[in-house]
Amino acid sequence: MHDCQVDMVGQKGAQLGFTETALNKVFFAIDVRAASVLYVLPASTPDASDFSTSRFDPALESSDHLRKLFSDVKNIGHKRAGQANLFIRGSRSRSQLKSIPVGIIIFDEVDEMVQDNIPLAFERMSGQVEKQKFLLSTPTIAGYGINAYFQNSTQGEFFFKCPACSKWTQCVFPESIVITAEDYNDPKIKDTHLICTDCKAILPHAGKVDWLSTGKWVDAKPQMPMKGFHVSQLYSMTTTPAELAVSFLKSSSNAADEQEFYNSKLGLTHTVKGAKVSEEDIIACIGEHMMKDKSTGFITMGVDIGKYLHCEIVEWRVPKHRPTPDVNLLAKAKVVHACKVKEFNDLHALMRRFRVRSCVVDAQPERRKAFEFAEMYAGRVKLCFYGRGVRSRTINVHTDRDQTITVDRTNWLDVSLGRFFRGSITLPKDIPLEYRKHVQALTRIYKKDADGNPIGIYVKADNDADHYAHARNYSEIALLLGLSLGKSQDIRSAP
Ligand SMILES: [Zn+2]
Repeated sequence: MHDCQVDMVGQKGAQLGFTETALNKVFFAIDVRAASVLYVLPASTPDASDFSTSRFDPALESSDHLRKLFSDVKNIGHKRAGQANLFIRGSRSRSQLKSIPVGIIIFDEVDEMVQDNIPLAFERMSGQVEKQKFLLSTPTIAGYGINAYFQNSTQGEFFFKCPACSKWTQCVFPESIVITAEDYNDPKIKDTHLICTDCKAILPHAGKVDWLSTGKWVDAKPQMPMKGFHVSQLYSMTTTPAELAVSFLKSSSNAADEQEFYNSKLGLTHTVKGAKVSEEDIIACIGEHMMKDKSTGFITMGVDIGKYLHCEIVEWRVPKHRPTPDVNLLAKAKVVHACKVKEFNDLHALMRRFRVRSCVVDAQPERRKAFEFAEMYAGRVKLCFYGRGVRSRTINVHTDRDQTITVDRTNWLDVSLGRFFRGSITLPKDIPLEYRKHVQALTRIYKKDADGNPIGIYVKADNDADHYAHARNYSEIALLLGLSLGKSQDIRSAP
């Protein structure tokens, strides 16, 4: 990896030395080639400052040569070394990634980054003669983040000569590991060990330095443009096979640990069962009705704004003695219409034909047009932001004047997409194929929050669209709003 001079992708388990490799390439570029480097981390705070103190400073402390090389290191985001510069930036701010001419860019923890800003940083290199990109991350789901790049790479795996049978082989899960207990509390688990997948000889963890030293990268797709490198913790010098076994056995008990095991231990993409709506789930929800042109029940509409305006119109069956907080869990949804239209003007006809009682529209990216639309319906239309700091399914209603609300994206998607698992939504027989695809695009994954606790978020593969899934979500939010009309305070649904 140190020798690689073309664009490269590292899809990896956690703590396998990839950042260390990236750092070596950074210092080499600055020292030997006098090239400037852009090092991109997910966020400028705390990531960039953490990187400066926990990675950059220690490197200088342990090397006189590097210390002499850098003339100015006080600025967290900009270290100067003669004519060369090291810029350390977060991925969130587009302006931070602009106007920096560099010869090499490192993207560290790609899956935690704002994905749309990555190609923007690529453009920064266009004027350079010698240029290289190095993207690295633990993966999440197939086609998302690092895996989207890895799929477009040579997909190299690390092979070595088995010390017992001398065949070229690799460590893979589960074939290469013999787990010696069924419960992670069982002391026998410490005997867990690695074996050669060919001759089944034991590959001692303590001898990794020796038997991996014969190794070489073998590309699965040598013709691809980027060089790809995948390594799992089966190769780790520090994580023992027994520790991996504990992680594996724990992973069967909950979704967050299962995701963590495949992503962070094996460096593989993984979708937990039930984390996304499947085609079977959708088929099970298709009813006897066809799409309608009008309707008379309690109707809500959700509108997602993109190149088109994707709309979902739902007729609700709300239980009579409804305790309001649970209404989204108790009400049954019947989708009567789903369509995409080109302009806000087209929404008026839908509002009229279906006598929509409550409508929620994506507040971005057409804020002004959405506002003008909402203004015409006296509180029946709200513009929705997905926001941070909103707990559970509370709807933060802002002043009537700007017609906006803020909700938590994950909590509401849990309810609106959860209908497909609970069977509490009925689709028309002729529901558009695009709707079926969009609803299946979102996968619920787990990330760690600032305190290290797992939190659920919904992501999609880079090439998938999810507009109808959000139209679905807005339609769901519109139900609670519609039943709470006239109340000015924040509206709270059951946690
Ligand atoms: Zn062997």
